[in-house]
Amino acid sequence: MTMGNRAIHNDSPLFLKRAAEKIADAFFPPRCIACGHAIAHQRAFLCAACFDAIELNSACYCPICLGRIGDPRHPCHRNADYLLAPATFYKDPVPAIIHCLKYQKLIGVSTLASALLIAHLNRAAVPPDQCLFVPIPLHPSRERERGFNQAFLLAQSCANYFNRPLADALTRIVKTKQQASLRDAMQRHTNVAGAFTLNPSVSVRGATIILVDDVSTSGATLGAAARALRAGGARRVIGAVIAKAQ
Ligand SMILES: [Zn+2]
Ligand SMILES: [Zn+2]
Repeated sequence: MTMGNRAIHNDSPLFLKRAAEKIADAFFPPRCIACGHAIAHQRAFLCAACFDAIELNSACYCPICLGRIGDPRHPCHRNADYLLAPATFYKDPVPAIIHCLKYQKLIGVSTLASALLIAHLNRAAVPPDQCLFVPIPLHPSRERERGFNQAFLLAQSCANYFNRPLADALTRIVKTKQQASLRDAMQRHTNVAGAFTLNPSVSVRGATIILVDDVSTSGATLGAAARALRAGGARRVIGAVIAKAQ
């Protein structure tokens, strides 16, 4: 009888998917996305050495003075529009993770990236009990080009893990230039000023918002989105990102 059960299990879509992956791995030996060393299977994405090199951050940061904040309930500048909560820093192997997440359509890598965010939110004592998770939206035309929004995938995993709502509270109304193409912090702030508007069907009044994006560099994108949320009555905004770049 156990044989019968096993036969049913082996016909499951998951089993077939794993079998297909094993065959693919045999023909295209899987490599670490950061250093290129051979790895056991592609779903691991990173080799053990690269994985161990990821430094998990345990603090939040003030976007005004850039100071480290041990307890997010007691920020140093109360007038800051948001607090930055980066899971880690933009150094190897993190750029490779972000690149795969954004441009290579390796959607499975979002599981790894989300796990970093979740571990960080737990460690940094960001209180997710009464919060809404809100992804930074792409402009609709850019989302159509890319086929997905990486921030949405991250926010969705976090919302599922913490069992909190995922709210599409923001709309990107201006097709801004890619922030990465602008070197100067001032240009980055001007580029995204007024780029976001609140979705009228979602109420953020009185809510703590965990605003999710992949990377924060100048903080201009998170700042513009946080101001839109605060204007709609959000009580506080925490900008959760995989990495804080310089
Ligand atoms: Zn590696
Ligand atoms: Zn400060």
